[in-house]
Amino acid sequence: MLGTQERPLRVAVVGSGPSGFYAADALFKSSLVCTVDIFEKLPSPFGLARTGVAPDHEKIRDITRIFEKIAGHERFSFHGNIEIGTAMPVSLLRKHFDAVILACGTEISQRMGIPGEELPGSYTAASFVGWYNGHPAHCDFPFDLSQEVAVVIGVGNVAIDVARILCKTVDELKHTDISQQALDMLAESKVREVHVIGRRGPAQAKFRDQEIKELTRLADCNCIVRAEDLLLNEASERELEEPAARRNMACLREVAAHPSDPAKRRQIHLGFLMSPVRVQGSSRVESIILERNQLQGEPFRQSARGTGEVLEIPCGLVFSSIGYRAIPVPGVPFENRLGIITNHEGRVIEDGHVVPGLYTVGWIKRGPTGLIGTNKPCSHETAQKLLEDIAALPPCEVPDTAALLRELTSRGARPVSFDDWRRIDAAERARGQAVGKPRERYTNVNEMLALLDEPAG
Ligand SMILES: Cc1cc2nc3c(=O)[nH]c(=O)nc-3n(C[C@H](O)[C@H](O)[C@H](O)COP(=O)(O)OP(=O)(O)OC[C@H]3O[C@@H](n4cnc5c(N)ncnc54)[C@H](O)[C@@H]3O)c2cc1C
Repeated sequence: MLGTQERPLRVAVVGSGPSGFYAADALFKSSLVCTVDIFEKLPSPFGLARTGVAPDHEKIRDITRIFEKIAGHERFSFHGNIEIGTAMPVSLLRKHFDAVILACGTEISQRMGIPGEELPGSYTAASFVGWYNGHPAHCDFPFDLSQEVAVVIGVGNVAIDVARILCKTVDELKHTDISQQALDMLAESKVREVHVIGRRGPAQAKFRDQEIKELTRLADCNCIVRAEDLLLNEASERELEEPAARRNMACLREVAAHPSDPAKRRQIHLGFLMSPVRVQGSSRVESIILERNQLQGEPFRQSARGTGEVLEIPCGLVFSSIGYRAIPVPGVPFENRLGIITNHEGRVIEDGHVVPGLYTVGWIKRGPTGLIGTNKPCSHETAQKLLEDIAALPPCEVPDTAALLRELTSRGARPVSFDDWRRIDAAERARGQAVGKPRERYTNVNEMLALLDEPAG
């Protein structure tokens, strides 16, 4: 019987972001005896809670304490620095675990799909966010902040993060755990004006009012909204029934009524009802062409339609922040249109049939929506389905993690345990303390591994 003291249910989770940890927690809280082994491609755990959440949002980052607690469970193991995919396939995990839960998140930005998007100076929010957060894959990205005007396409929380980090002063950032390399480059930044552009209107914006209020409190930056951009059609007025939209509108109206401070050197302009048409420039970004939109359709289902009227914003930087999509995991059914794993309520589906023992949670299951906490019910739903399926699950062939780790090592892997991570964590905190930051991150995987090779203490 799987799930007993004699034979615990063995679950592997791929990805150590919030959804992976919440899935582990749900399994530990069930009445069955389970072991959970999380495999993570980075040496560090916590996914976007570490590499996405903005460095100046320290309280939100504190959520990792909850995940540390889950990691303290006696039947929990972490295997960092192991990317599941081609060299270490999902099939190998399935040989050693009764069930595999894919929790890989959505790592790449959606592309705008417009001409000129590839010009130097046109970047994705995913790489910019990864850069300032010291993600090893993005920390060396050569951002050019020698330009005065930036345009951010998208009006979600991530777009607002990008605008805010571009416009904060060094004094506002230097005591956060922003990567030092990013801080040094931001100190030299020439950016003075950031236009944040939404396809639909202010009533449909996905940011939260707190994020906008924060923009109004920046030391050297005004937040500017034009009152005429806040005029709503009848359907949008109806959409204000929804509390978040109502709060956003109240906040935006306050911002529009507030005179900007001429002493502040930077400006963030929030603009609505415009879509990007093309990025222009001969050898780098010189401007962006936008088309004005109008909304059509029923309340809560309005879509943006181009009016044919275009405008040009001269700019040297463009950041697209219109959502994320997942990278397909080799051997796992993928829904290309949506950029997620094909699944029904967390059970992976192939050719219309459930794939026994294969599950998914979080952003790779449902797409990049919601906050960290939204992943908790999502992961609970999947854990519930897994537990419902347990009687029909064939036990894995080789229920032996040590054998798997030997196999992975023989394929060149250098696994990082949770204790190893604790050493990296302690070293980052010590480096941070020396410069008045909560931590100074290691941005290079080899540096982290070299630290682990040093004698402890
Ligand atoms: C820029 C940004 C800022 C955000 N800020 C906030 C915020 O302030 N507050 C808030 O509540 N929410 C915020 N969110 C949302 C929150 O981060 C997500 O809801 C949450 O992280 C999604 O969790 P996840 O586990 O599905 O994915 P992720 O957090 O992305 O975790 C996925 C993990 O899987 C690993 N992985 C991927 N592929 C593999 C593989 N093949 N093998 C092994 N490991 C793999 C990744 O390295 C990563 O660690 C933000 C999101 C973004 C993008």
